[in-house]
Amino acid sequence: MTFLKTLTAALAVGVVALTASTAFAQDKGLIGISMPEKTTLRWINDGNALKAELEAKGYTVDLQYADDDIPNQLAQIENMVTKGPKAVVIAAVDGTTLSDVLQKAADAGVKVFAYDRLLNQTPNVDYYTTFDNFSVGVLQANSLLKGLGYPEKKGPFNIELFGGSPDDNNAFFFYDGAMSVLQPLIDKGDFVVKSGQMGMDKDGTLRWDGATAQARMDNLLSASYSDGGRVDAVLAPNDNLALGIISSLRGVGYGSADQPWPIISGQDAQVPSIKSIIAGEQYSTIFKDTRELAKTTAALVDTVVSGGTPEGLDTKTYNNKVKVVPSILLTPYAVDKSNYEQLVIGSGYIKAEDLK
Ligand code: BGC
Repeated sequence: MTFLKTLTAALAVGVVALTASTAFAQDKGLIGISMPEKTTLRWINDGNALKAELEAKGYTVDLQYADDDIPNQLAQIENMVTKGPKAVVIAAVDGTTLSDVLQKAADAGVKVFAYDRLLNQTPNVDYYTTFDNFSVGVLQANSLLKGLGYPEKKGPFNIELFGGSPDDNNAFFFYDGAMSVLQPLIDKGDFVVKSGQMGMDKDGTLRWDGATAQARMDNLLSASYSDGGRVDAVLAPNDNLALGIISSLRGVGYGSADQPWPIISGQDAQVPSIKSIIAGEQYSTIFKDTRELAKTTAALVDTVVSGGTPEGLDTKTYNNKVKVVPSILLTPYAVDKSNYEQLVIGSGYIKAEDLK
């Protein structure tokens, strides 16, 4: 009886303690998260991970997806700001179009965090968390060289170039990083862009749309390769685009014994692309651990809204044309058939059974 009473009392204290800590946790306030879209699988992981991290720190989270639609994202963030959040975390569809709502956020004392994609041409962005995006491009280009066996194999190699969405600041960093490796080799004549299409104005792919990349590859193939020339490599800036490009190449007979796949890059380590790499179609991808980005961002948000001073920020790399935005840059990794097990499965990012 006494034991039971003690147990009941202990449980009651436990319940009170639990309720108190929950109540305390809920006191930390609201954080809005605005993600761009759901067709690129990573944003779903980013959103879920960020929400979980912030909730674990005691915040209430309003997570919204914009369906790649600018007015939609504007309306969602406007709505968030009216709810009086402590901060909003934004991965923008178009990093230049949110200035008005960001002004409203600043006026209301809401801290603004750019997530993965920089918010451009506004003073009202407080911090930026991302990966080293220039390095992503360098890694992509180097993986093409590795796949081709360059410089041991001399070429000249025919290469076609794709860029990401011109309204996404990252797309330029990826492209510039890749071209820092490729341009000197093109100048040397070891690599040839047979279509002649170079520069983000020609190579960019609006909204990172795989179907757009597929259609452009179709055009490149018929305009520049119907003479029997072969595509040896394709710079694809992410996995969605790589898969579109692969569909196009398959359509004209690549992927057979006498017409092997070109070496094709990617980014995001998405399940369909890892499968494609295992099947020997796509050559490489870039692994950016979005769980780490979410964790880093949640910690930064927590420090800032609790009145702390964040440390170790990069204050040089990301000028948004109004100011340099203090940033945290995480490390990206190149992945191909030789190391996907170690990097992508070994880290628990993808489960082995998801690749069956
Ligand atoms: C991200 C990439 C992603 C792309 C398309 C970029 O801003 O950094 O990881 O593939 O957007 O969603």
